[in-house]
Amino acid sequence: MPFIKINKQNFFHNLDIIAQKTQSKDKIALVLKDNAYGHGLKIMASLAHEYGIKKAVVQNDREARSIASLFEDILVLADIPKERASNIHYTINSLDQIALFPKGAKVELKVDTGMHRNGIAPQETEAAFAAIRRRGLELVGVFSHHRSADELTSEWFWQKENFKKIKKNAMELAKKYGVKKLRFHLDNSASTMRTQNFNEDIARIGIAAYGCLEMPKALKTEEFKPVLSLYADKISTKKLPKGARIGYGGTHRLQNDAALSTYNIGYGDGFLRCLSHNYTTPEGCKIAGRISMDNSSFYSDKEHLLIFEDAREVAKQAGTISYEILTSLKPEIPRKVV
Ligand SMILES: *Cc1c(COP(=O)(O)O)cnc(C)c1O
Repeated sequence: MPFIKINKQNFFHNLDIIAQKTQSKDKIALVLKDNAYGHGLKIMASLAHEYGIKKAVVQNDREARSIASLFEDILVLADIPKERASNIHYTINSLDQIALFPKGAKVELKVDTGMHRNGIAPQETEAAFAAIRRRGLELVGVFSHHRSADELTSEWFWQKENFKKIKKNAMELAKKYGVKKLRFHLDNSASTMRTQNFNEDIARIGIAAYGCLEMPKALKTEEFKPVLSLYADKISTKKLPKGARIGYGGTHRLQNDAALSTYNIGYGDGFLRCLSHNYTTPEGCKIAGRISMDNSSFYSDKEHLLIFEDAREVAKQAGTISYEILTSLKPEIPRKVV
């Protein structure tokens, strides 16, 4: 098995930067979906708790219940539970879902401000308030999501404006329907870092906390530090002659006599196969040939090989985003806090 190191100091450094932006760590809702972006749900939830984070966001009810004791409240983005829980909020993503939630459940209403993925249309807001009351649910929040906060376009402003209108309308409806206290939130990592005077109730922070936020140059932000690094152990080393061909398909031919080692990591662990042939580690070790399910060969004889320490660099080489590199890492890989 390969192994993962979680750098606690870097994680806390990132949270410090974010807390400065939101002006309070109480306003950070840490997004822990998808095994905490591949970092390990339990580990990151515990570290966040130790730092003093009180709110979390996950994808489903199972994730929420497994960490419920560590947070004041947890928002579930897309799941309908069998029974209510006192500190778990469930997202309403469409009008017809409202009838499916258990009576008394705490819910937050997602409103579509332009992404056109989940959430009710703005003009359905009153219908949603009415249906929520009829069903006997407790409405505690209204939120939306940016589609391009990390791009240098006016769309970010446009969605902010749309959300302002939704907020105003929801506050009036709250009075009419006797809803006592609502929280409002729109910002993800990129949007929070773009905001000058943060005034939402919470920010839903994922990628920045894990140290892999990428923004256009003109929107340069503070230096976040990657939290996760991936290592593999050597299985064997071979001295091979010039011309030897390595791995499946024999696609890589040695230009000179060389010593190569095989390491216990492959696409089965989440080390993407599209990195075959061209990948180079941060320490300059080149990959040789195709990545197999549980093996890859490198020009190296190190016992423990650092595969990557910044998912953004790997993402560049793989033609994808750091989110995919991180969430591809299998939950079975041992994770160790350092
Ligand atoms: C994943 C997610 C986030 C976090 O986004 P980052 O870009 O990682 O900060 C916030 N809100 C919602 C609704 C999400 O799905």
